[in-house]
Amino acid sequence: MANSSTTDTAARRLFRAGLITMRSDGSLFSRRDGAMLVCNGRIRLVDTFDEPPAHDELVELDAVLLPGFADVHTHWVQHHVRGRFGGDVLQWLEQYILPEETTFADARVAQQRAQRFFNDTLQAGTVMGMAYSSVHPEALDIAMAETTGRWRLGNTLMDRLAPAQLLEWAVCDPHALEELALRYGRERYVLTPRFAPALSKGLLEQTGALARELGLWVQTHLSESVHEVALLHELFPEALDYVDVYDQAGLVTARSVFGHGIHLSEREWRCLAQRGAWLAHCPSSNEALDSGRMDLEAARRFAVPFALGSDVAAGPSHSMLHVMQRFLAVHRAAGIPVEAPVALYHATLAGAQCLGWQHDLGSLEPDKRADFVAMPRPDGPWQPAGYLEELLRGSMTELEQRAQGTYLAGTLITASQAQHGSPGIGTNTKSLHG
Ligand SMILES: [Zn+2]
Repeated sequence: MANSSTTDTAARRLFRAGLITMRSDGSLFSRRDGAMLVCNGRIRLVDTFDEPPAHDELVELDAVLLPGFADVHTHWVQHHVRGRFGGDVLQWLEQYILPEETTFADARVAQQRAQRFFNDTLQAGTVMGMAYSSVHPEALDIAMAETTGRWRLGNTLMDRLAPAQLLEWAVCDPHALEELALRYGRERYVLTPRFAPALSKGLLEQTGALARELGLWVQTHLSESVHEVALLHELFPEALDYVDVYDQAGLVTARSVFGHGIHLSEREWRCLAQRGAWLAHCPSSNEALDSGRMDLEAARRFAVPFALGSDVAAGPSHSMLHVMQRFLAVHRAAGIPVEAPVALYHATLAGAQCLGWQHDLGSLEPDKRADFVAMPRPDGPWQPAGYLEELLRGSMTELEQRAQGTYLAGTLITASQAQHGSPGIGTNTKSLHG
């Protein structure tokens, strides 16, 4: 019998299952009886099964395969308290979240919670994303080591509006920050100003300079609640608006991802569009904190790109199926027609585009990495849009557990492998794991 690792890298593994994906040309591709050929962890061919290509191993799945999900805005250090608290975002932060984040000074706490976060997200079908860490460099280091799938992570930057026991750990020295960015590199590290009010003008400017110098991605929050916008104007009286504060610091670029963007003026929409910046749209979080609805029509009118984010812990669930469900629900409730394939696009390919990984991830297309998720097959006839609608029905817990298996580079990752941060090889792919 051949050595399993040799077989795994060289084998042409053919997956037979239903297939649904958005494609790079904007179309929806689907096959009831589909064939996906994977070799060296990459997709070689996607087609109908009737004339299967040459292969070494056949993996028949009673499932529908979707591309793995992207969560472009989440806080891994808040995962353990997701959905537990409410209130306006400022009150929620001060009363619950910042005190919670002080516990990440303890490496054992960070270790345990990082393992749980990456395990839970992977089991729910998320294979990539961008996440806020706490202020602590050691907690960030632990999460970098535990990462399963492809993630950019960043220690939260702030030098005010937080308890002293949090601020004393925050990295504010530009040289120390540069060292962190260089240690992990731009594919793994993201500059993470918490939100403009929590940073002095000086720290915002240093962050912008470093982003420009090293070509780094930036994630931060923007215009989430009306109280927050009022606070911003108090702290930055000379600024035109919220976007202007970031723009003056050089933080609005095509590598910037702004969480929320709910209360934006026309000028702000225009500025975001001109700079090519992205919004992380977090409908389940906005609903939970009663922050308002992102203006989907404005995003379309001004051509500001967006991808979906869970925004755990304000968002009550890490499941991207749940975020997609809430995306359709909040906009439909406002009379805006949105279809399930659009939700799928914003939770997969748009996420990969937002993170700059669209050539490698985000859809089931040749040459991309075979990162995908197996979902239950429909009972009735094959109608992809209707199937996606059905897939998004159910409670939060049901949606968190709906995925039957998540594959990275064509290999099923089990819970124990994910907990050890290993991509895993030689897994039994003949059957689905619940
Ligand atoms: Zn957030």
